[in-house]
Amino acid sequence: MSPNFDSKISAMKKSILNQQTCMTRVTNMCDAKEIGDVIEKGEETYEWKESSTIGEIESATYREASLLATAGVAEVVRRIRRLGLEVALHKSEALCFHGPRRKPPADASLTVGGVSIVIKQSMRYLGIVLDGRWNFGAHFAELAPRVTTAAGALTRLMPNLGGPEASCRRLYMGVVRSIALYGAPVWADALSRQNLASLRRPQRLMATRAARGYRTISFEAASVLAGSIPWDLEAKTLASLFFWREEAVAQGHRLAPREIAGRRNELCQRSIEEWSQRLEQPTAGRRTVEAVRPVLGQWLARQHGSLTYRLTQMLSGHGCFGGYLCLIGREPSAICHHCDGCADEDAQHTLEVCPAWDQDRAELRAVVGDDLSLPAVVRQMVDSERSWTAVQTFAESVMLRKEAAERVREDTSDVPIRRRRTGRRRRAYALHLLPPQ
Ligand SMILES: [Zn+2]
Repeated sequence: MSPNFDSKISAMKKSILNQQTCMTRVTNMCDAKEIGDVIEKGEETYEWKESSTIGEIESATYREASLLATAGVAEVVRRIRRLGLEVALHKSEALCFHGPRRKPPADASLTVGGVSIVIKQSMRYLGIVLDGRWNFGAHFAELAPRVTTAAGALTRLMPNLGGPEASCRRLYMGVVRSIALYGAPVWADALSRQNLASLRRPQRLMATRAARGYRTISFEAASVLAGSIPWDLEAKTLASLFFWREEAVAQGHRLAPREIAGRRNELCQRSIEEWSQRLEQPTAGRRTVEAVRPVLGQWLARQHGSLTYRLTQMLSGHGCFGGYLCLIGREPSAICHHCDGCADEDAQHTLEVCPAWDQDRAELRAVVGDDLSLPAVVRQMVDSERSWTAVQTFAESVMLRKEAAERVREDTSDVPIRRRRTGRRRRAYALHLLPPQ
């Protein structure tokens, strides 16, 4: 019996249903040796699964596996019928697990009791779509649109201005996370690049809304700002915890809730460390990630300070800044409209340099100190609620005036790129500018 098949099926039964199921192993009822042949196990094996009674037949060649599976299923059906029960053969499904380049023929099938059971490429089992290579590509292909739809529906409830508080946003994010991480112990070690992308897309969507940020913010920066550990790392944590518990139970240990909570905490800390290592080389959102990474633990554990639409603009650099607006085609140039000395205005220029905001900056410096580099500012923010409030006040005050100035430019400009938004876009923008509730 292949340990891979065995542990995966066990994980599905226990982690997903967490209760006894009606499944019976064919191998328990009908050992392969009874069927006739002694099986020489090759490096690659074939395994079979059939309907709600699950069975496994191993063989080194497809032909042998096919014969054994046919005989095995026939034997199971015979025994079930002997108990006076009927088997719905036309509802039976079969899947062939195989190694690389050992795919079964396209029209492969088993014939039992005159009914042909087609060998499928994938099949749904306990809510997970299994495929012949255990790579869960089919599972994620089916999961991705479902998670994206859920994320899309929930993000509509989370406008960047107003809307639910941070705790509620975290709750919404948890809903989508739960859908995405269903059955994680089964697939956590099979995350291909594509599967990873299927997890990242909805997480980025939820994280940008949780952080009240522009949707252009990168996955790394958005998840850091929202304090959302990448879901692939969370899947690993869930899998480790599950298999740790399984092992303890198998050895006869009775785990106290405190022990489980302690282990969960330990694994969570480990995944934060792994996340931090990953963030050493972010692919995008470098300024934000580099500022938060040194204090990531405190950032996640802080009890104060939530993000506002304008504070997130200041931290992410995606917002009402010349450089950004020029990049997304909303301004013809990246210059700062509030001073003469900046040809490429960004969030750091607004925070640290631009003379137009000297007075607000003086008030900010009185609280957080003279160093206004983003890492220093973020460190101050996580250290004290007073600093957080000071930075937030600065961001609100300055960004509000910058937005007002941008609206005036839109109204007075003849340049097509900067014309005032019209119709649906304008109404959406006007909603954006409603004062926070
Ligand atoms: Zn300036």
